[in-house]
Amino acid sequence: MTSQPEKMEFQAEARQLLDLMIHSLYQHKEIFLRELISNASDALDKIHFQSLTDPQLLAGDDRLHIRIDADPEERTLAVSDNGIGMDREELIANIGTIARSGTREFLTALRKSGEKSAAPPELIGQFGVGFYSCFMVADEVVLETRRAGQAQGLRWRSRGDGGYTIEECDREARGTTVTLRLKDRGPVDEEFADYSAEWQIRAVVKRYSDFVSYPIEMEVEREEGEGDAKKRVRRVETLNSLKPLWSRSPAEVSDEEHADFYRHLTHDWEKPAARIHLKAEGTLEYVALLYVPAHRPLALFDPHEAKSKIALYVKRVFIMGDCEEVLPPWLRFMRGLVDSSDLPLNISRETLQHNRQMAPIRKHLVSRTLETFKKMLEDEREKFQGIWRDFGALLKEGIYYEGEEDKFKVAEIALFQSTRGPGLVSLDEYIEQMPAKQKEIYFLAGPDRQTIEASPHLEAFRKKGFEVLLLTDPVDEFAMQRLTEFDGKPIRSIERGEVEVEDVEEKEARAQKEKELKPLLEAVKAALGERVGEVRFSNRLTDSAAVLVSGEHDLTPHMKRMLKGALQEVPDQARILELNPGHPLVAKLDLMRARPQESRFADFCEILYCQALLAEGTPLPDAARFNKLLSELLVAAG
Ligand code: ADP
Repeated sequence: MTSQPEKMEFQAEARQLLDLMIHSLYQHKEIFLRELISNASDALDKIHFQSLTDPQLLAGDDRLHIRIDADPEERTLAVSDNGIGMDREELIANIGTIARSGTREFLTALRKSGEKSAAPPELIGQFGVGFYSCFMVADEVVLETRRAGQAQGLRWRSRGDGGYTIEECDREARGTTVTLRLKDRGPVDEEFADYSAEWQIRAVVKRYSDFVSYPIEMEVEREEGEGDAKKRVRRVETLNSLKPLWSRSPAEVSDEEHADFYRHLTHDWEKPAARIHLKAEGTLEYVALLYVPAHRPLALFDPHEAKSKIALYVKRVFIMGDCEEVLPPWLRFMRGLVDSSDLPLNISRETLQHNRQMAPIRKHLVSRTLETFKKMLEDEREKFQGIWRDFGALLKEGIYYEGEEDKFKVAEIALFQSTRGPGLVSLDEYIEQMPAKQKEIYFLAGPDRQTIEASPHLEAFRKKGFEVLLLTDPVDEFAMQRLTEFDGKPIRSIERGEVEVEDVEEKEARAQKEKELKPLLEAVKAALGERVGEVRFSNRLTDSAAVLVSGEHDLTPHMKRMLKGALQEVPDQARILELNPGHPLVAKLDLMRARPQESRFADFCEILYCQALLAEGTPLPDAARFNKLLSELLVAAG
């Protein structure tokens, strides 16, 4: 039974992608075959998985395989599978529309980069554009499919020019066949490769799809016999070696093979920055193959993507592509798979949560991952710094979320910017360099390095030669608060509470000054009223006249700004205004205070307070008033 072809339009985004594929100067056109094989392999995974609970679905056709048929004369190439197939709704939803958020992001990124025609391969690679990549090499694509358990076949056909047709067709076998009518060599197309040639197909399959766990078969023609008995025969050969890469011994798998496998798994064109391939034996039996991507993906901090996405296999059978139980969310940038021999095949997302095998696997993987990073930090510093730059902000969430033991393991590999120089330091390195009289680990947080470096809080630390960690990631202060100490040294924010930077004489001199100028401190407090909780002399300042300090357990201004940015309620906490007893402005203020007819004392105090707010990056509550006060002061000075 057949029907009239029905004309359909591609969804706008699908059309854009197609357009890009057809006109792309993309150099790796051969990836279209990898994409088709990977779709076929997914379709076989699906039917295999469903047939575990519903064996009828296979209807006797249980040799799951992929088949390639090429015809160099007709210039066609077909990839078939006896997988799950698609019904009409699925066909329209999957092939005519772009359902995947990744692809949508790809288009957005591309639009942002402003270059439609020359999409950089890393960009294409990061997203894996799937089926549409056929149109890089084909004038016309015909897809015939029959969904398992259904009788009617469907034919989808498109020239990639905005629309496609769907019609019913007869199809004996379950599954899908995608047939490409290959483009002819164009006069300017120098990179032309003939994808109907056997050697070419073999090379591409070997390169990208060797580890596919179903046989990829192709009929080939060979010469057999000797002399007069020589004849040409056709026979079916399997092009891939089948054995999944992860089940081989880790020492036997080459870097190249890993790169190919990683590409297959993630569609990321770049080689992974690091890998962990381990076989656990004993009480827990599983194989894990984890990769660290070469670059931070665009959606890393997207709250909808905040789950880890490791594929789960049970005894080499694919169970799910993004199992969030395998790794904690702060390792969600890792890609790869876990293949367990202990989990039941019918495990589902729901039952996974309560499975007793999963928690120890996760714990084991977290510690192996951290060990690997630690070793890299020791032996391949440059490489690890690259990973840290891309994923450190996420890894630090591990300090916040992990238990007492693991938070220190994460802290051991953490790298920070510091006042020491432009490079990154670890906490161990920080401690190694501490002068004998320094007892604590100091940090200061802010929106960026430049702003933090301008902070008056740093003055005394600079003078003393005490290194201060400069923290710019939103997670930093929360992580530090959670960590509280490292290697027995308390960790403290230098804008909170009292800091110990003075020696005994300096301390005594300040106490003396505080006694002498007590009336000044009281007068400033009286002038500023509720705006400050206390006014005292500072041991942090050398150049600035004043600075605002938070109470020991209060939120820092940077934390407050972040919480406000996230529309969180922020408690009002009175700050401490610290004055620099050695600053001429403070001396002047004391003189003014002593003059009975002086009316500008309160204005002066307010200006000083506003300057302290500005120095820490806090917006002024009333900027117009500050301007007015300053203008009046300038007029009076002139
Ligand atoms: P991706 O495979 O990355 O999801 P594609 O554009 O390659 O993206 O394919 C879109 C969807 O079409 C697939 O997710 C799948 O549901 C369906 N599909 C493609 N090829 C096949 C096939 N051979 N058999 C069954 N379904 C397929």
